[in-house]
Amino acid sequence: MRTPVPDYLQDIMESCVDDGEVASYIPELANANPNRFGIALCMDDGTVYEVGDYQHEFSLQSAAKPFAYALAVEHLGPDGVEEHVGVEPSGDAFNSASVDAKTGKPSNPMINIGAITTYALTGPISLTPEERYENVRLGMSRFAGRELEPDLPVYESEMANAWRNLSLAYLVRSTGHFTLPPHDVVDGYTKVCSLKVTPHDLAVMGMTLGNGGINPVTEERVVSEDTAQRVLSVMSTCGMYDASGDWMTDVGIPAKSGVSGGIVGVLPGQASLATFSPRLDRYGNSVRGLQAFTRLSQDLGLHIMSLPPTGESTVRSVARRDQGDGPELHVEIQGPLRFSSAERVMRTLAALPVSDEPVVLDVSRVGSADRISVRMIHESMHRLHTDGHQVMVRDPNGVLRDRWDYNWDE
Ligand code: GLU
Repeated sequence: MRTPVPDYLQDIMESCVDDGEVASYIPELANANPNRFGIALCMDDGTVYEVGDYQHEFSLQSAAKPFAYALAVEHLGPDGVEEHVGVEPSGDAFNSASVDAKTGKPSNPMINIGAITTYALTGPISLTPEERYENVRLGMSRFAGRELEPDLPVYESEMANAWRNLSLAYLVRSTGHFTLPPHDVVDGYTKVCSLKVTPHDLAVMGMTLGNGGINPVTEERVVSEDTAQRVLSVMSTCGMYDASGDWMTDVGIPAKSGVSGGIVGVLPGQASLATFSPRLDRYGNSVRGLQAFTRLSQDLGLHIMSLPPTGESTVRSVARRDQGDGPELHVEIQGPLRFSSAERVMRTLAALPVSDEPVVLDVSRVGSADRISVRMIHESMHRLHTDGHQVMVRDPNGVLRDRWDYNWDE
């Protein structure tokens, strides 16, 4: 059987109606073929489904911003970056001088003024402009799982007309939120914006954030889980220019778009979607990209606020068994473990009769467990042990064991 996913994506693609204009303030972008349209969907295990112009390369533009921000956060830590770039939606256009009235700090890293500042924070101040750019290019390449190269005509065309970004950089330099020469910073930032990706690359980059910082294809850890979570949070509030609120309510997928027509959206732990179609709406978001995301979100229940599966069926059975060595209490659990499902398990374990009967927790049907659920189960088992039970865990797949830092008498 051929999986129906590509047919479904093809169907989505054909249902989108194009409108709007190709960005022209970067002259070279105006030469883009407006009819191109590609969609790539990367799953958490690195499987990529793709249709249309999924192999077509385009410059990342603002879709570079989340990844450059991730590299800055890795370098300086979240507080170090937050001293100089905030995380508040600006509600202003992508190229506006949105800064805090008192401190001059740019509102967030997803608009130009914040992204230019972020670029200056991506590595030690001692780096030469060339080294800084190369450092970021290689970091972005690790997100994509292949070496990314700049689109030099796009970069040169933007630099020849970068008056606005230069003025934003000088403004930030004047308040000391970075101290490097503004021209060098804009030059490096612009070159990073020109890095060429395909929808396939962009989907893999997104899934790296969605996988807690691990590239699903190369399996390389690119950034920490905390950094990835922070970047996705900022994407969810600030990623879609001044249409971010509408996007979050209608589509509900943390995302970032760029003026070349790309959009990358990420559902943590599930999938990442990238679209490329150059015609933009009045906010600067790809018209067909927005339609494709809206339909996919509705059809596939991808809105981040949609109800996740409940923990109701987590406890599969509780039984007293005797396999010859006397009775033992056997608790079998299933499904993925997170806070709410682990709470059901805790409640079940807490309700076991106080006795010295051994307790066996069987997790062979548990596919995955997050950090907090492991701690919760660990704590419950520890308490049962303290109450006088002998406790055992049946974990043939190592779902809990890999994170267990405690051994009971088994
Ligand atoms: N390089 C572009 C700029 O700085 C990126 C803008 C965008 O994609 O929003 O204007």
